[in-house]
Amino acid sequence: MSLRAVKGMKDILPDEISKWHRLERAFRDRVEGYGFREARFPIVEPTALFVRTIGETTDIVEKEMYTFTDRGDKSLTLRPEGTASAVRAYVQHSVQGREPVTKWYYIGPMYRRERPAKGRYRQFYQAGIEVFGDPGPYIDAEVIDMVVGFIASLGITEVEVLVNSIGGAATRQNYTAALLAYLEPHRDELCADCQRRMDANPLRVLDCKVPRCVEIAADAPPILKHLTDDDRAHFDRLQEALTKLGTPYRIVGSLVRGLDYYTGTLFEVLGKGEGLGAQNALLGGGRYDQLVKSLGGPDTPAIGFAMGLERLLMAMPEVESESHVDVFVVAAQPTVRAEAALLGRELRETGLRVESDLRGGSLKSQLRRADKMNTRIAMILGESEVAAGAVQLKDLRAQKQHTVFRKEAAKRAHEILAG
Ligand code: AMP
Repeated sequence: MSLRAVKGMKDILPDEISKWHRLERAFRDRVEGYGFREARFPIVEPTALFVRTIGETTDIVEKEMYTFTDRGDKSLTLRPEGTASAVRAYVQHSVQGREPVTKWYYIGPMYRRERPAKGRYRQFYQAGIEVFGDPGPYIDAEVIDMVVGFIASLGITEVEVLVNSIGGAATRQNYTAALLAYLEPHRDELCADCQRRMDANPLRVLDCKVPRCVEIAADAPPILKHLTDDDRAHFDRLQEALTKLGTPYRIVGSLVRGLDYYTGTLFEVLGKGEGLGAQNALLGGGRYDQLVKSLGGPDTPAIGFAMGLERLLMAMPEVESESHVDVFVVAAQPTVRAEAALLGRELRETGLRVESDLRGGSLKSQLRRADKMNTRIAMILGESEVAAGAVQLKDLRAQKQHTVFRKEAAKRAHEILAG
C-alpha cells in the first residue's frame, strides 16, 4: 500500500512556491509598514487553551480539533487558529509591562478537521495580526484599511468588506434576551446543535450553516439595534474613519463569526471573483476585549484578523513565474568540471543564483537543462576559455553569445539581468 498525505492536507512543491513567497513577502512588507513585528508560536498547545478561548459550543471545538493525549497524559491540540496562542504568549510573557500597545503578526499552518472542499483544507495556512492595548475605534479602521489595501495590492480587485458590531457584555446581555424571545417559537425547527446553543450561547445560532437555521437566523432581530450608547459611538466612529480612509464597506447586522471571544467590531472580506467557489471568505477578524483578562492577564483591549493564504492564492491573478536560476554554468569538456564548480562559486558570491550540471554530459544536454529552467544566461567554460581567463556568455533570451573576461563575467550577468 502506498502512503499518501493525510486527507485534506496538501504538499506544496517548488513549482508553486514562488507564488507563496510572493504573497508572504508582500504581507510582511505591508504589516511591517504599520509597525507590526513577527511572533512565532508553537503549533501544539494545551487543549484547554482553545476550549476556553474559542468556546465550547463552537464548531471548531465541538467537531474540528485534532486533539490527542501525549505520552505524559496531557491533552494537546494542533492549533486551529492563531489568536489563542498569541493571547496566551502575551499573558505568559507579561508583554503589557514592556509597551502600551503591542502589534504582532504571524504566518503559519492551522489544523481543522473540516470536510475538505475546494478552498477548505484540514491543514491550511493563515497570516494574521493582533493589536493589544488599543481600545479603538481608530485602530479598528486602520487595521481594516491596511488589509483591504493589502488585498488590492495582490491584484485581487473583486472583494467585499463586511463590518458589524456585536458590542460588549452589556449589549450582548440586552440582545440575548431579544434573540431568545425570537428563537423560542422556532426551537423545534432548529438543528440539534442550535437547540443546545440556544441554552449555551444563543448568538452561535446566527452562525449555523444548516439551511433551515440560516433561514430562521435571517429574520432574527439585528444586534445593531441593541448596542449600548458606548458601543454605538464606537461603531459610528469606526464608520467615519473608514469613510475618511476611503475604504468601502457594507454593514451586515447578521455577521457574528464562529468564535466565542469576539466583542464589538467584527469584519470579514469576501472574494467575489471566479476561482474561489463557495469558500469565498478571504479573511475574518474583530475585537476581543475580554480575552486577555480571561486568560489571567490584565484588562487589555485587542483586535486582530486572520487570512487564509490558499484562498488568497486562488484569488490572485496568475503571473508568469520567474526562473529560480540566473546563470547556468556549462562545462564544455569533462576536464573543466572542477573549474566550472569554482566559476559557479565566484558568481554566487556576487549574489547570482547559479546552477550547473556537475554530472557532466554533452554541451547540448547541459544547455537544454538551462533552457528548461528558463535561465536567462549560460556561461560556457572550455579548456581554451580557462587558458585565456575567459568565459563564453550566452544570453539565452536574446540568443547572443560572446566571449568575456572571467573577472568581468559576474558584472556582465548582473547588467543583463537588470535589463
Ligand atoms: P477563521 O479563523 O475561521 O476566522 O478564518 C479566517 C480565514 O482563514 C478564513 O476567512 C479563510 O480564509 C481561512 N480558513 C479558515 N478555515 C479554513 C480551511 N479549513 N481551509 C482553508 N482556509 C481556511
